[in-house]
Amino acid sequence: MIQTPYYLIDKSKLLQNMEKIAFLREKSGAKALLALKCFATWSVFDLMREYMDGTTSSSLYEVRLGREKFGKETHAYSVAYGDNEIDEVVSHADKIIFNSIGQLERFADKASGITRGLRLNPQVSSSSFDLADPARPFSRLGEWDLRKVEPVMDRISGFMIHNNCENSDFDLFDKMLGEIESRFGPLLKRAEWVSLGGGIHFTGENYPIERFAERLKKFSGDYGVQVYLEPGEASITKSTTLEVTVLDTLYNGKDLAIVDSSIEAHMLDLLIYREKAKIAPNEGPHSYMICGKSCLAGDVFGEFQFPQPLKIGDRISVQDAAGYTMVKKNWFNGVKMPSIAIKELDGSIRTVREFDYSDFEQNLS
Ligand SMILES: *Cc1c(COP(=O)(O)O)cnc(C)c1O
Repeated sequence: MIQTPYYLIDKSKLLQNMEKIAFLREKSGAKALLALKCFATWSVFDLMREYMDGTTSSSLYEVRLGREKFGKETHAYSVAYGDNEIDEVVSHADKIIFNSIGQLERFADKASGITRGLRLNPQVSSSSFDLADPARPFSRLGEWDLRKVEPVMDRISGFMIHNNCENSDFDLFDKMLGEIESRFGPLLKRAEWVSLGGGIHFTGENYPIERFAERLKKFSGDYGVQVYLEPGEASITKSTTLEVTVLDTLYNGKDLAIVDSSIEAHMLDLLIYREKAKIAPNEGPHSYMICGKSCLAGDVFGEFQFPQPLKIGDRISVQDAAGYTMVKKNWFNGVKMPSIAIKELDGSIRTVREFDYSDFEQNLS
């Protein structure tokens, strides 16, 4: 028995996403790069590498991790690079995508040995949450003025456009790509490659993946570009759980159960985006509010149904705990960091990482 809390990555579930990605690459000709900001648990890169073309990054450390742990094609992007990091970034990358014309001009010479690109902002997105909306007013994410981009075309060979966000609606993707075409068409015609970013939930159930593939293929043909996708969440969705144990139960007008984890420390996005955790099967006559063990009053996973009354020592699996979860875990309250375990394709489970007091101590000085 592995001591809870731990994240459990199920390779057979990961494989289902990987097979959809491989199918899409095959049908569309697009390349797929894992977005490391969403998921960087490198112990499963050996499996993912077989189905994806490489990685994309948001920083020097991510691009280095992509190069060293994943290999294959390695894209560098960052909202801004510092003078002290650019040489190292370039040394790890096959392509570098600058966020602004200012950064492109500042580092054009230092990056002249590799392929260079620029992020465009089409000023439309599928995000409904302002915090995560790349097209929000005054967004710093990319250039949108054609007249400014035109003069630097001799320095770049492609573009990155990331404006989808948790988008499971193919028609909306199609419509926004149409808007991108009508707005940036003349520039796209001069490019050799275009990355359409992440945020497209094409590995989800019932997504029309064949229509999606056709649309990408047509886009690629119309503009003569190699298309890239940068799936983060779509690569790892539904592959991972957070395994926790009930430490205490109490009744304060509702039945409460306290577990050996914390949303603030181990599933931070739930708090940021005001979402409830998912627990399967969430059925039965007994309702409990599942609470974290940090001292934050609102450290609550949500209210769920159980077949039996919960008691100390019961185990609970919190679903969908890979994307934007493991990369954001932190030491708030000194809560024990979840270990990382992998369920192999043959069903055996092995622990690949455990954290202890010294990791907590070493995190500060
Ligand atoms: C966040 C991000 C991604 C990955 O997004 P998902 O929603 O996880 O697919 C890809 N590319 C860029 C530029 C991003 O900022």
